[in-house]
Amino acid sequence: MNYDEDCIFCKIGRKEIASAKVYEDSEVLAFLDVNPVTKGHTLVITKEHFSNFNEVPKNLINKVFQVAQTVSQAAIMELHATGVNILTNVNPSAGQSVMHFHVHVIPRYDNTDGFKLDFTPKAIGTRDMTNIATMIKKGL
Ligand code: 5GP
Ligand code: ZN
Repeated sequence: MNYDEDCIFCKIGRKEIASAKVYEDSEVLAFLDVNPVTKGHTLVITKEHFSNFNEVPKNLINKVFQVAQTVSQAAIMELHATGVNILTNVNPSAGQSVMHFHVHVIPRYDNTDGFKLDFTPKAIGTRDMTNIATMIKKGL
């Protein structure tokens, strides 16, 4: 099992650092983010160290997202969230600061809850859509 002795989430996975645990099994742990962006902001991690989403075996990705879905449902049922953002950052250019794979489950309440994802269209436009799709398909 991959383990990085300098990794804070490996330490949380092994209980060497405390966390507010939400869910645990032999492979997956969910715990509250220490700097929540909304009430109930939860991180779902593999106990094994993988640096990001792209590095995780698909069977484990399935398990992590099953847990993320359950946490998301609980946020709506028990915290009375009205929505949830599920996201994972890959590499620092995308905002990843802890280089151990994790999924953010971010309960949403209303447009003043302090969290914002900006999906307004940018100047990049829709040119070259066919070429871009072809390039991505080549890598699948
Ligand atoms: P990233 O920016 O890598 O997608 O998200 C990392 C998240 O981990 C941040 O939201 C940050 O608040 C959280 N975090 C960093 N260190 C700790 C810690 O020691 N404990 C907990 N519970 N969360 C942490
Ligand atoms: Zn780690």
